[in-house]
Amino acid sequence: LILIFFMNKFKQLGLNDLLLKAIEDMGFESPSEVQEKAIPVLLDQDTDMVALAQTGTGKTAAFGFPLIQKIDAGDRTTQGLILSPTRELCLQITNELKNYSKYVKGLNVVAIYGGASITAQASDVRKGAQIVVATPGRMQDMINRGMVNISRINYCVLDEADEMLNMGFYEDITSILSHTPKEKNTWLFSATMPKEVATIARKFMHAPEEITVGAKNSGTDTVQHEYYLVNGRDRYLALKRLADANPDIFSVVFCRTKRDTQNVAEKLIEDGYNAAALHGDLSQNQRDMVMKSFRSRQIQMLVATDVAARGIDVDDITHVINYQLPDEVETYNHRSGRTGRAGKSGISMVILAKSEIRKIRAIEKIIKKQFEVKTIPSSMEICE
Ligand code: ADP
Ligand code: MG
Repeated sequence: LILIFFMNKFKQLGLNDLLLKAIEDMGFESPSEVQEKAIPVLLDQDTDMVALAQTGTGKTAAFGFPLIQKIDAGDRTTQGLILSPTRELCLQITNELKNYSKYVKGLNVVAIYGGASITAQASDVRKGAQIVVATPGRMQDMINRGMVNISRINYCVLDEADEMLNMGFYEDITSILSHTPKEKNTWLFSATMPKEVATIARKFMHAPEEITVGAKNSGTDTVQHEYYLVNGRDRYLALKRLADANPDIFSVVFCRTKRDTQNVAEKLIEDGYNAAALHGDLSQNQRDMVMKSFRSRQIQMLVATDVAARGIDVDDITHVINYQLPDEVETYNHRSGRTGRAGKSGISMVILAKSEIRKIRAIEKIIKKQFEVKTIPSSMEICE
């Protein structure tokens, strides 16, 4: 009986041995809150679900584990569709699902996203993909060309639904859903619940189970927020000082435009830093290469636009640097959520011009935390 107390917490959620073995390999010790709430329901019931939880709370496994367990790997039909906002996320989810299902024989997970060969992706699907992970644009394209058949799926996951709708995918999503059978289950995962997400839920879901993970356990809760007041024209100098003062920095530096992103990255490289740019004007191949070098830590400072960095889940990012504040307050939340993931600590820094202090007050209301006011370290302090 005592054994029960030592029983793996994931096992208690109802996950099978193949998944438990993979979970052990990944080193997950216990389920996160959203996983604890979502997994047993999704495993036991054929139900729709709306799950709200901040970034970094482990939503991928919350739908990924039950999805893998419920799929019939012996049947090659496409049974599960996951829609996700960006190419990067699509690849990331695919890799995660492949990891989770490494002991499940015959299960194929295929990623479908723009900027890469559509015929290669179509051929991967044709070989038999029980789970397809797709961006809405490319998915729609492949449906139009008859390259993928989702008329027999049992599960449809809308991941990062708020982001997808922010990016203008409403039409694509509704059109894609019209190609799926009525009697499937739809699982919607999102960090926030704006009107558009509520509309999707109302229109396409039937009596969904609702799960909310409180802000208390949110990923961003372990993040410390700081701002550094500078003259607008000294932003770049400030950035270099911050980098010098933190020699082990592993960070995403957010700029407002593609052009600023490119310029800042180029200057950093010229000045001898391990930096690279990530923005939408790069080819898919270039973006993949940049993400690969960042993940392997050959790059210490990834300078990125908000769109390009959406959903990026790279472990142990120490600092998020807001080279410029975003226009939308909500975007700040998404940026700072890149660090402090899985309960680790992280710092979100803002390089701030005096005229922008009002924005800080607005952000503080949203994040329900106060910024620390810091001063840029002088080069003297850095040398010591
Ligand atoms: P979200 O989609 O909510 O933003 P992710 O699914 O990307 O979050 O997970 C964030 C990070 O936490 C990933 O690196 C993931 O591997 C890790 N993670 C997820 N679940 C657990 C767990 N139960 N234990 C430890 N780490 C976890
Ligand atoms: Mg996610």
